[in-house]
Amino acid sequence: MLGSNRDGEYLVSCLFCRREFDEYLMKCPVCSGPLEIVFLNPRFRIDKSKPNIWRYKSLLPSFSKIITYGEGLTPVSRIHGVLIKNERYNPTGTYSDRASSLIASYVASTNIKKLWVRFIEDFTYSLSYYLSGLADLEVEVYGDDISNDELGKLVELGVKLVPSYTTNSSLELDYLNPLTIEGLKTIIFEVYERKVRCESIVVPTVTGLLARSLWKGVKELKESGLDVCYTIVPVLIKGWLKPTLIPSDMDVVEVELETVLNTFTKLCSSGVRVKPISALAYAVAENLGNSLAVITAGYKSSTRMDRGRVKESIINLLNREGSLTAYEIWKGLKSFTLRGIYKALKSLEVRGVLCSEFEVRGSRKIKRYKLCGNQLKS
Ligand SMILES: [Zn+2]
Repeated sequence: MLGSNRDGEYLVSCLFCRREFDEYLMKCPVCSGPLEIVFLNPRFRIDKSKPNIWRYKSLLPSFSKIITYGEGLTPVSRIHGVLIKNERYNPTGTYSDRASSLIASYVASTNIKKLWVRFIEDFTYSLSYYLSGLADLEVEVYGDDISNDELGKLVELGVKLVPSYTTNSSLELDYLNPLTIEGLKTIIFEVYERKVRCESIVVPTVTGLLARSLWKGVKELKESGLDVCYTIVPVLIKGWLKPTLIPSDMDVVEVELETVLNTFTKLCSSGVRVKPISALAYAVAENLGNSLAVITAGYKSSTRMDRGRVKESIINLLNREGSLTAYEIWKGLKSFTLRGIYKALKSLEVRGVLCSEFEVRGSRKIKRYKLCGNQLKS
């Protein structure tokens, strides 16, 4: 059974056949269509004490346990004058972390111990990161996936890779599930909270899930009685089919592949590292004007020396402060990215330099790091 959030009940509705359910399901048991959570009495409130997506708890499903690594509150900045919401500044470097926080909270609250998921770049890594220590994850790999570097990172996190033709009895988790939508929509809440001035929010589109989620976020803000006039603009490569997840009244912009490659080349040659899919949204935001592009962008690859410096700074900080959470460490060392801090913490923990413990703060479980034993203390 679904719980209720502070302001009222919610239910799960099928986007295809419109049937309604009162439990979390991954897809519609009747028509296999995608499901979405519907708030019956939406109210938008911000809990400013939470430095993550859970500050929007009034419009998120509620769980008895919350798993967070500080996802969300990513910066809005400009690249060559174009406004961007840079999702790279999430714990594993993508907006998938917003979804993973909800899924991991659900898994922790329901005590699911084993699940499996189809390999999807970025999402599977993010999910593995969030589920690490909570549940065993099996990742279904197809032949096409084996050239992907990310598989190695999954193994390092203790994930079991299984061939696609294996039958599996554990719970199947689909990327397209109601909790993913809830996590991704928080991007729009942050844009609204920060009062970003723009008309269009441009979203790179493959499955339509991100655009759909942001559209839902705008809809809920309006239903909460707020004056929100952002238009979500999904962008596709010319010739691709409009995904069924995109609401029919939403206009899609198509871009020639050549334009995407030219924009990608321009960004890369000026030292901005983006994925080609991000260049798709960037190109349209640049052309439209008065727009914000939701992308992941880095400015240069971190060198081995940078990585060494993060670790050294963390050890020095913990030596002074005793024990700290990852977020507190990041606040103390603002010159590094949160993702860099998390990477360094994981690696220091695996090497036995750092030990971690959980403590409960309010209703949240907080992970604190400290130096193991007296090692490295001078
Ligand atoms: Zn259905």
